[in-house]
Amino acid sequence: MEPCLPRWVARLHNPHPSNMTNPFIRIVGLKKHYQMGGQTVRALDGLDLEIAANTFTVVMGPSGSGKSTLLYLLGGLDRATAGEIMINGERLHEMDENTLALFRRRTMGFVFQSFNLIQSMSALENVAFPMQFAGISPSQRSQRARGLLGQVGLDNRADHRPSELSGGQQQRVAIARALVNDPSLILADEPTGNLDTSSGVTVMQLLSDLHRSGRTVLVVTHDPRMMRFATHKIFLLDGKMVSEEEYQSATLETASI
Ligand code: ADP
Ligand code: MG
Repeated sequence: MEPCLPRWVARLHNPHPSNMTNPFIRIVGLKKHYQMGGQTVRALDGLDLEIAANTFTVVMGPSGSGKSTLLYLLGGLDRATAGEIMINGERLHEMDENTLALFRRRTMGFVFQSFNLIQSMSALENVAFPMQFAGISPSQRSQRARGLLGQVGLDNRADHRPSELSGGQQQRVAIARALVNDPSLILADEPTGNLDTSSGVTVMQLLSDLHRSGRTVLVVTHDPRMMRFATHKIFLLDGKMVSEEEYQSATLETASI
């Protein structure tokens, strides 16, 4: 008899699922190639993937396997060489720049490894900043930013600049900033990569809370502790999606060279 496996384990046996009726994210034949001095770098080389709403997907892969490229394309921060990306029924690859920018603002929050905060601004101003483009009055912006800083446990750091905050606190400010437009999708690229263990755990917990409050979360990470929050895992090698078994044996081979 088949043992009763969690759903994501069952999905790992089929790395190319294609029968989800309404996936939140659908990627078909996604490629991103760069021309570098006469050579073609295949950062992504034909990716098919479906992700349901309200899942927490961890993306793993060695350096250079295409993880950031995947997140950037999903986030509409870069264009694919070929293939299709659909998010919530919207076709990103067919959008012009303005439509894409609006869609991004409405739907997505991005969290980077290096926080990407504006150094001359306080925590509060950093969080409030993206709301400038959403036609919200200054007092409402600041009220909402204060509320979001409260959500990440930083009410008492609102007036601090990034240089006056620890790495973990800066990443929490960046998470608050990612939430300003109440996005349904959170994309995080190695969000704990620059953090010590305990700040890393706090950040993971926050991302997990966002998932449990109904959002879809995709996190690129090397951190095995992130796994316990994951409902799904994706493994990348050389711009292609592989099974966990293929990934484990390839990374073990590399480690033993
Ligand atoms: P990862 O995040 O998994 O470390 P990336 O997605 O950043 O990997 O990169 C995948 C591959 O694409 C790497 O070989 C990288 O050198 C290459 N690459 C990424 N961005 C560019 C670029 N702008 N120009 C040329 N090559 C790039
Ligand atoms: Mg990367």
